[in-house]
Amino acid sequence: MGLIIAVAQASAESCNVFGPEGTSTNENHAVKNYQPTYNSCFFQGREVLSLRSFSLNGQNVNLMVEPNTSKTSIVFQECLKSCGEVDELYFNGSHYGANHLNSFMSPFPLMNDGLGFGGSQKYIALTIDMCPSSRGFSSDVYTKLDELSKNQLRAIPVGVAMTKRWLKRWPTEFKQIKKLQLEGKLEVDWVNHSANHRYNPKKSLDENFLLMAGTDMEEEVLGNEVALIEEGVTPSVYFRFPGLVSDYDTINYVANLGLITLGSNAWLAKGEEPQFGSIILIHGNRNEVVGEKKLIKYIDEMIKLGHMFGSLDQVLN
Ligand SMILES: [Zn+2]
Repeated sequence: MGLIIAVAQASAESCNVFGPEGTSTNENHAVKNYQPTYNSCFFQGREVLSLRSFSLNGQNVNLMVEPNTSKTSIVFQECLKSCGEVDELYFNGSHYGANHLNSFMSPFPLMNDGLGFGGSQKYIALTIDMCPSSRGFSSDVYTKLDELSKNQLRAIPVGVAMTKRWLKRWPTEFKQIKKLQLEGKLEVDWVNHSANHRYNPKKSLDENFLLMAGTDMEEEVLGNEVALIEEGVTPSVYFRFPGLVSDYDTINYVANLGLITLGSNAWLAKGEEPQFGSIILIHGNRNEVVGEKKLIKYIDEMIKLGHMFGSLDQVLN
């Protein structure tokens, strides 16, 4: 029995390209031929969903989702068996399938579409948007989360909604977030927040962000995933629209790539208060300091409120 478990664990680790935490200590990974897939496959005896296939540093790999937790990992293609294409209802009864389906239901509001909260009566999810910024990085927020990790003796779950433009401009700061994950201080879900996050203050919302004329959705969505993988982190199944602005076509584009759109019902800078099941939104790029301050105050009050941070997967139960 002991031997069988040991063998199973060894093979789980050897299948996972970026190690058990899904984060590589290295950067500059080479990604080629990045292709969407929607396949059911067997991985170590259980059924999983393959969302992408690509070549990573010259080896064939897939980005896969565990349907019952919605956790993603990048695994060597040879570890996936009996793959076959399925439709979007195939995993309907699972955590992933139910949340995926709920994330692209009508009536497609212009603002804050997708899942803004979950059913958890125990946890609250924190998401930090890292939109392009000339101001850098909210070190007070990340320092506070590091302290919280020391107090609670655990990795603090957080969704970091990353853009390619922020990470290319602030590589040292990006590495600091990654380091907190590698050191077990943060349990990061890398949320896709688009590659370029274009914004024109002169345009109305229905012609702005990803609804702006000339937007290349493939570059914005898949291009951002590639940028994350090149930096050595694993994209999650979660997508947050820039400005929380979307329409029928863009919501469906993202859903067809197997991603789950996240909104928020607790945008702290707007005065919205977190409750159980909330998805909190703050900005971690110094563009909205009022939200940072509110988060730091909220963290100080959490124990009194009986609140606890959980992962997006735990909140969207
Ligand atoms: Zn943003």
